[in-house]
Amino acid sequence: MDGAFTSPSWLGRLEAQRQEIRTEGLYRSRRLLEGRQGVQVRIDGRSLTNFSSNDYLGLAGDPRLEQSLVEGAAKYGVGSGAAHLVCGHSLAHHQLEEELADFLRRDRVLLFSTGYMANLGVLSALMGRNGLVYEDRLNHASLLDGAQLSGATLKRYAHGDIPEISSERGPFSLIATDGVFSMDGDLMDGKALASEADRSGAMLMVDDAHGIGVLGVTGGGVLEMQGLGQEAVPILVGTLGKALGTFGAFVAGPETLIEYLIQKARTYIYTTAMPAAVAEATRTSLELVRQEPWRREHLKTLVTRFRVGAQALGLTLGGSQTPIQPILVGDSRVAVRVQERLFNAGCLVVAIRPPTVPKGTARLRCTLTASHRAEDVDRLLEALSGCPELSQSDS
Ligand SMILES: *Cc1c(COP(=O)(O)O)cnc(C)c1O
Repeated sequence: MDGAFTSPSWLGRLEAQRQEIRTEGLYRSRRLLEGRQGVQVRIDGRSLTNFSSNDYLGLAGDPRLEQSLVEGAAKYGVGSGAAHLVCGHSLAHHQLEEELADFLRRDRVLLFSTGYMANLGVLSALMGRNGLVYEDRLNHASLLDGAQLSGATLKRYAHGDIPEISSERGPFSLIATDGVFSMDGDLMDGKALASEADRSGAMLMVDDAHGIGVLGVTGGGVLEMQGLGQEAVPILVGTLGKALGTFGAFVAGPETLIEYLIQKARTYIYTTAMPAAVAEATRTSLELVRQEPWRREHLKTLVTRFRVGAQALGLTLGGSQTPIQPILVGDSRVAVRVQERLFNAGCLVVAIRPPTVPKGTARLRCTLTASHRAEDVDRLLEALSGCPELSQSDS
């Protein structure tokens, strides 16, 4: 039977493209973790110190979260069974929404299954063909994809600029920005963006995936750090998969916005609710974010230690003061070579290449977490000092 079919030409086309990606040094493949997430991970039977996760507070492997997940599963079962609007919205989801709203000082919070889906859902619900979306060039892919999906006109502005909002589309304009830029670790200028939004009547949406739990005195994120409340930034998106150590995401804002999203956001309506047990585990992690400020303090000292050490080695760092500390390499093939060298020295630091970052800006994206010790940072610096590719950079 199979013999009746010829090998399809489209597979040949895919294969050719695959080879092209490989020759450009842009080929992606997955590392297989053989044990739990944390500072020490097992890959290929080897133990490595992990400098690539977004588990900034070191909560992903915390036994207390594990316990809550188990208890949540015992109470609610494993699957949520349906979308939130059918019969998948449990008490655990609801309590988490209320606790997050209280933590973030927003009227309401709406859970989404992932941050990617939250951004797609918000942008396509709020924007249509008559809309105009302004986005920072370095915004996360999900914000760009959301604008495209909505059918609005997308204007991308230079990284860090404050776009001048034209009055022509009035309230059908929206500015969307990362709070902490995911591959650079620098911060938006929230005050200036908020005042431009206020002046022009545009909506302002901040995706604080990397700031929630990490920045601000209580871990409220970049908005707490920059003193911006719900009036200044009415649309706040965050993920639960990074500093909170679990999975899922949320949108926080005014009552009207949240109720509107429940009616209109297709990535909310047409998908299964996250397991209630995951919401239970996240309630525990939110508790820890509040009760263990030492995690943020420790993280800050590690960031300083890393920056001082890296500068002493003459490495090209950006201006980031967050746990995201990229070392710019430029060429993708060189970045992969450094990644391999670090791997052999026992450090997991993943090379980030185009199209995740602009062409010619491949980098080693080092991230620090509250579970690292000072010795771990020193170990990374030691490994970096053994990479001739880095010291030869023309900085
Ligand atoms: C990681 C990330 C997302 C996606 O969140 P997930 O919950 O992982 O889907 C969205 N925006 C930014 C800025 C991110 O870094």
